[in-house]
Amino acid sequence: MRIGAHVDPTDPLAEATARAADAVQFFLSDPQGWKTPQPRADAETLSSADVDVYVHAPYVINVATGNNRIRIPSRKLLLAHAKAATAIGAKGLVVHGGHVNAGDDPATGFDNWRKALSYAAESGGLGLPILIENTAGGENACARRLDALARLWDAVGDHEVGFCLDTCHAHAGGEELLGLVDRVKAITGRIDLVHANNSKDGFGSGRDRHDNLSAGTIDPDLVVAVIRAAGAPVIVETPGGAEGQGGDIAYLRGQLDGETGAR
Ligand SMILES: [Zn+2]
Repeated sequence: MRIGAHVDPTDPLAEATARAADAVQFFLSDPQGWKTPQPRADAETLSSADVDVYVHAPYVINVATGNNRIRIPSRKLLLAHAKAATAIGAKGLVVHGGHVNAGDDPATGFDNWRKALSYAAESGGLGLPILIENTAGGENACARRLDALARLWDAVGDHEVGFCLDTCHAHAGGEELLGLVDRVKAITGRIDLVHANNSKDGFGSGRDRHDNLSAGTIDPDLVVAVIRAAGAPVIVETPGGAEGQGGDIAYLRGQLDGETGAR
């Protein structure tokens, strides 16, 4: 089982070493901004590294929205990130499921997702799997609750998309972690990546504040059970830098090693 962390993008492999991580995830540009990602000088090194690389797309991307001034730049930026992530040998590009505005028909959000992926396919393809991530908040989200996720997958399932399951987002979003992997896989058929995070906030709070695995409101055994059931690589997006995340990675290895054998 590959276990890693979301890290600073400056020197991701050094960050991996500092955490004894087998995988890293990072941003290629300011996550709150619209800047096109620039080519990285270490593309070759990252591509050939033993450490698995994942890229997280900026938070501003919302390909589902009915607001074309957000939607059109979003799908362009998503495609630019897919190309930049492919250039560094990333295994997947994580992007949030997005949402429609209050009062808008959720059906338009799912259809806009389909259009964004068709646009990408017509523009030369994404080059790597897009991993749509479940989100914690919003009443009109495409990938917060599983009923919405099922409709989203009906719309995008013909495209090459994967799923990233975030345990904090599921809990805060109001989905029970017990048995969640089976319920998700019944919809998506796959889980490509687990974001293993505890939550500072309660079940169904809709708030997105990650905590270290042995802190927070989620029983850490449930997070471990999700990872075990998913059988997918794991990224912790927890606080505390190398020390906090390194501790979370060591904790997970300790819990999982008995069943998965030596790393
Ligand atoms: Zn996440």
